[in-house]
Amino acid sequence: MTVNVLFAAKPARWAEYEAPLRTEIEAAGVAAHIATDIPADQVDYIVYAPNSEVRDFTPFTRAKAVLNLWAGVEAIVNNPTLRLPLCRMVDPALTQGMVEWVTGHILRLHLGMDAHIGAAPGTWNPVAPPLSFDTRVTLLGLGELGAACATALAHLGFQVTGWSRSQKDISGITCLSGTAGLDDALASADYCVLLLPKTPATENTLNARTLALMPRGARILNPGRGPLIDDQALLAALDHGHIDHATLDVFRIEPLPAEHRYWTHPRVTVTPHVASETRAAYSSKTIAENIRRGEAGEPFLHLVDPGAGY
Ligand code: NDP
Repeated sequence: MTVNVLFAAKPARWAEYEAPLRTEIEAAGVAAHIATDIPADQVDYIVYAPNSEVRDFTPFTRAKAVLNLWAGVEAIVNNPTLRLPLCRMVDPALTQGMVEWVTGHILRLHLGMDAHIGAAPGTWNPVAPPLSFDTRVTLLGLGELGAACATALAHLGFQVTGWSRSQKDISGITCLSGTAGLDDALASADYCVLLLPKTPATENTLNARTLALMPRGARILNPGRGPLIDDQALLAALDHGHIDHATLDVFRIEPLPAEHRYWTHPRVTVTPHVASETRAAYSSKTIAENIRRGEAGEPFLHLVDPGAGY
């Protein structure tokens, strides 16, 4: 039997996904009609990006799942019309991209690269950088992305602590959970990386109280979601120098408005939500595997828990 797969995302995405999606779904042994315009009551699977035109899932009466193209699901998980299983994106390329962004931006600051890149010709200031062995990194969030970054940083020699909702046990990482765990994780953070999902429970995880727990001169990297940080509290901590630097990839409003202080703050680096991208060649495999599972009656991978919001 042929299954109908609706691709509900911006048209530019369809150009990227059409060929790899067809290849991977066929390779998974599923006969599929994949298109951007299938009548809702004939759709079996919805490949979905929250910036698509689909807002009301009620007409999708026979669909078996919504397969999100993005790792973050905050824009869809609370949609009251969504009663289907929702799967988020997990793929090795998404994880690798995040590992490279996080380690690259930490190493930039850790090694003081800017001082040499921006130095005037003739500047010879041989100050040795610190070693990773003597530097503490805290990851807030130990999921697919956080755990991979934590492990990569530990392999580079950093002292790594991670914090998550449920208690974890990851080789080489000090794993903490709960409110007291958050306070301890921040109190021992020379660098703090936010890789939490945006949920009501994670909003403003970094606020005036928690920022004050961090050692003076600590650095923050946020490739998670903008609302994880109270922006006014962070700007105040940067102004005072309590926080030495913030590297921010995600914001409450994107693109970051031109007048926002982050653009010009000397202690802030802005990157335009590029920490890690969903790439068609890799994410199509995840989508195809979930369609295969749905057809075989097997449990879907990477199911979102609507109660938890991620
Ligand atoms: P996961 O769902 O795999 O991991 C989320 C982690 O956060 C888990 O360890 C989870 O704990 C923890 N967590 C959730 N809620 C809480 C809480 N209330 N208190 C403490 N810990 C909590 O997500 P991913 O690692 O795949 O992705 C993380 C986020 O990264 C995404 O939601 C998205 O917002 C962002 N992202 C950003 C990208 C970019 O380009 N900037 C690209 C891709 C993702 P537990 O393990 O106990 O469930």
